Amino acid sequence: MSEILRVEHLKKSFDELMVLDDINLSVQRGEVVVIVGPSGCGKSTFLRCINGLEEIQEGRVLLGDEVINPAQKGTNKHREKIGMVFQSYDLFPHKTILENTTLAPQKVLKRKKDDAEKEALELLDRVGLASRKDSYPRMLSGGQKQRVAIVRALMMHPEILLFDEVTAALDPEMVREVLDVILDLAKQKRTMLIVTHEMAFAKAIADRILFLDGGQVIEDGDPKQFFESPRTERAKKFLSTFEYDRS
Ligand code: ADP
Ligand code: MG
Repeated sequence: MSEILRVEHLKKSFDELMVLDDINLSVQRGEVVVIVGPSGCGKSTFLRCINGLEEIQEGRVLLGDEVINPAQKGTNKHREKIGMVFQSYDLFPHKTILENTTLAPQKVLKRKKDDAEKEALELLDRVGLASRKDSYPRMLSGGQKQRVAIVRALMMHPEILLFDEVTAALDPEMVREVLDVILDLAKQKRTMLIVTHEMAFAKAIADRILFLDGGQVIEDGDPKQFFESPRTERAKKFLSTFEYDRS
């Protein structure tokens, strides 16, 4: 195994509010790390720090052996290696699905149109949406739009994918179709950091669980152990509010 991402002694605050307090993490290539924790504990902020979108006060984030520094020029190069999918899909409303997934690769990666379209169609097919290539976002359901957003991220050939509660805004019947796409990515051995409140999904997909609370990593370990017999009282309390198979 080889390390792809390392976070060392990361501290992040917004003015007086300390949000992340000495976070350490090493992620191996192909590893799926699921991050859970109460609302407001800093999960989104953590992903944003990894993606170079937030200035940090102490510590550092390394992708391979390159330091991600949001204040420094060239961060965009790092950011290209990291794909992020959010709760809101942010597709361009006046562009078709095919255009939404092929514009950035042409602009940023200088890919040829034919070439980008060929790959986009393959990926859209993989998520069951090839037939919707000429549709506009408004013609798609939330679950379909989120699958397009995942394809759009994949088109940039990221080394790591970050998912921030990508099913939280979806109607229940659409959650499964999006989670299945992410499970498929795990089978392809993609490196992923996933923030989710879907505990059954987390248990099924995670190689490793990170439980954040109060700005710190409270548990970091095996999903089976975490979900079936959490070590800390805080994790027990957090997990008691969710329904999932505990055996
Ligand atoms: P989570 O994703 O775990 O719900 P967040 O990372 O969104 O938590 O937020 C962590 C804390 O940081 C919260 O208290 C939130 O209010 C605060 N916070 C997040 N973003 C900002 C910001 N841009 N300015 C000030 N406070 C923020
Ligand atoms: Mg969040």
